[in-house]
Amino acid sequence: MKIRVLGCYGGQLLGFHLSSFLVNDSILLDAGSPTVALTLEEQRHIRHVFISHTHLDHIQDIAFLADNRSLKRMGGAGENRHITIHSLQDNLDTLKTHFLNDIIWPDFTKIPTVKDPILKLSAIEPLKSITVDDVTITPIPMNHPVPCTGFLLEQGGKQFIYSADTGMTDTLWKVANAQPNLRGLIIDCSFPNAYQNLAEISGHLTPKQMASELKKLRTLGETPIYLFHMKPETLNVMTAEVEAENIPHLRMLTQVDELLL
Ligand SMILES: [Zn+2]
Ligand SMILES: [Zn+2]
Repeated sequence: MKIRVLGCYGGQLLGFHLSSFLVNDSILLDAGSPTVALTLEEQRHIRHVFISHTHLDHIQDIAFLADNRSLKRMGGAGENRHITIHSLQDNLDTLKTHFLNDIIWPDFTKIPTVKDPILKLSAIEPLKSITVDDVTITPIPMNHPVPCTGFLLEQGGKQFIYSADTGMTDTLWKVANAQPNLRGLIIDCSFPNAYQNLAEISGHLTPKQMASELKKLRTLGETPIYLFHMKPETLNVMTAEVEAENIPHLRMLTQVDELLL
């Protein structure tokens, strides 16, 4: 399994992309930045997008991905005609009502035709696995102010977990501790320690809270841990705070990372 970081920040600034991870070229986890990080040709390979939740930093590029695909299709591209968006039913409803509603953006679930649209929506359920393009993906319910799931990925007997946005949680660690061969885990670390209240209200973690969460991981010290969703403007403070926790095999992601499992 190959996981390419397209964006790993909880804010958008020059040089800092929003959360988006490309798995094996065809599966996208969250859609914060694929159209600014990938060439048109690379975007064309995306067949499945798993959306953790409907906050704008995780969905915004669904709009431009669909738009780019439609131009490609009009240009005669035959394969990979559509992209399937996988998320909780609540989130698919939100996308239809508030985003792809022909007001904020055209409804690409009906374009060019209802029978053969650019975007197809497919509901997933917590802790129910589905397999797409040879990767088995299991949504894990997370602690965030809106319905949100992280994702357990499995291919070739190796597992990887992406927490998506989350505050303190037990479910994630229960799932992580049940994996026989967990090769890595991406976890929320959004605000510096001074913003603990804000982190709690908004369903995120500070370095201190993240460190205390990691104590629930059975394989801590063996499993590589990657942090994401840092607010770019507080990156320096957070880097020092993360280093002070002195956790082995842990680092902040950067958006040029490619993880090979
Ligand atoms: Zn969020
Ligand atoms: Zn977010």
